[in-house]
Amino acid sequence: MPTLTEKKPQRPATRAHGRPLPELIFGDLWEFDPAPETADPKLKARYDLFIGGKFVAPSGGKYFDAINPANEQKIAEIAQANAADVDAAYAAAKKAFDTTWGKMPGRERAKYIFRIARLLQDRAREFAVAETMDGGKPIKEARDFDVPMAAAHFFYHAGWADKLDYVAPGRNVAPLGVVGQVIPWNFPLLMLAWKLAPALAMGNCIVIKPAETTSITALKLAEIFQDAGLPAGVINIVTGFGDTGAAVMGHPTAAKVAFTGSTEVGKIIMRSLAGTDKKMTMELGGKAANIVFDDAPIDQAVEGVVNGIFFNQGHVCCAGSRLLVHEPIAAMFLAKLKTRIRTLRVGDPLDKNTDIGAINSREQLKRIETLVAAGVKEGAEIFQPSCKLPTKGYYYRPTIFSGVSMSHRIAREEIFGPVLSVLTFRTLDEAVEKANNTAYGLSAGVWTDKGSRILKMSTELKAGVVWANTYNKFDPTSPFGGYKESGFGREGGRQGLLDYCKLV
Ligand code: ADP
Repeated sequence: MPTLTEKKPQRPATRAHGRPLPELIFGDLWEFDPAPETADPKLKARYDLFIGGKFVAPSGGKYFDAINPANEQKIAEIAQANAADVDAAYAAAKKAFDTTWGKMPGRERAKYIFRIARLLQDRAREFAVAETMDGGKPIKEARDFDVPMAAAHFFYHAGWADKLDYVAPGRNVAPLGVVGQVIPWNFPLLMLAWKLAPALAMGNCIVIKPAETTSITALKLAEIFQDAGLPAGVINIVTGFGDTGAAVMGHPTAAKVAFTGSTEVGKIIMRSLAGTDKKMTMELGGKAANIVFDDAPIDQAVEGVVNGIFFNQGHVCCAGSRLLVHEPIAAMFLAKLKTRIRTLRVGDPLDKNTDIGAINSREQLKRIETLVAAGVKEGAEIFQPSCKLPTKGYYYRPTIFSGVSMSHRIAREEIFGPVLSVLTFRTLDEAVEKANNTAYGLSAGVWTDKGSRILKMSTELKAGVVWANTYNKFDPTSPFGGYKESGFGREGGRQGLLDYCKLV
């Protein structure tokens, strides 16, 4: 049976061009002094629901704990909404739609959305720390990616609100009314912005439920809605578990529902809404392939593959969790990857040097452990660096499986953790066939020097996004969404707006 953890860092022979690699990479990793982020996240001890422009206690009087996955400490209490609270949220949204937001000219709506973006920028550092404490992602990601990108989504859609005549040229567009939205825990604030900004720009009012393990930044954003003077009821935030989510998705007032989460829950929601006239968009799971040809810029591709799967602990639906590498360079590429992941720092997410933070919950950590154990059992070869992990909190070492075949569970199932499965291919057709041989189709990456190959691959890959010589790049102007069991509908860009309006 292969060992689960590498015992001692091995010194790989040489670089591809024959020079030995510098010593410091292969001894113990340099010890950096702790560099914790110090901004005050200004957390409240208890967060209530946000309904009709006010924070209100849940009618059932129940609260649940928000746990910091980095140290398992309770950081706040979150209100648990029941069906009556969801009703109240929809009533507030309907009233706002009928009396204020739905009637307001787009150029006026734009001012509020713009204000939300600016206020979020003003409090960016505070939001980044809160996001890291609640969800476990490294502060450098929350600070440099999640929060600025969330603000960018509000800015971009503020720009659209007075230009809606250009969303569907030749047609008039109108808002749908009240929309219900449920989001997951991997990008709590960013997913919120993806969902809220286009719906607001189009003139809809909203009831949204964040994930149970990451509700805090949504409720902090509600403080910004108040500061921005957003009319009461335009956005309502209900927190809770799956039953609250089901109540949001199934509510008769919702003209449209938008869900991001697991394919399993997406299917449950679709079944429960079959036969209704609700519009629906689903952004579900993924099992993306990063495809590296022998003429790729190798060191950039190594970085791209590492970024694609170890970024945000692999808690990314479009994570490049499969590497398809061209056979002639497979051994060399794998050696470089192993060398690179030995230098990744796993630990306190609030430390500015941390590359891989905490796994979001104990439950998610167990799911990762189960699938990794299945990979070992099915005969794939595992590699994990010998980095130290904190004794408290939920952590997982970056993991690479080689010798993986298409039938292995680790090649087919979404792991949602820092685990990469490596497969090889000989021809372009074989790469396309293997990449598409999955139930999912959210994203893919192609690494090659040849533009013609990129064009051919991006046509043949059944994935909503195909990145070329890069990975995990996002922009509010660019639509994002899936094929097959990865869902339907698009978020971002003009296409994203089309999913929040009716053509009249
Ligand atoms: P993940 O596997 O990423 O945790 P889930 O699909 O379980 O994804 O959860 C995503 C979101 O869906 C969360 O906000 C969760 O509370 C919510 N949810 C879970 N079950 C249901 C359901 N039956 N109906 C609606 N929402 C649900």
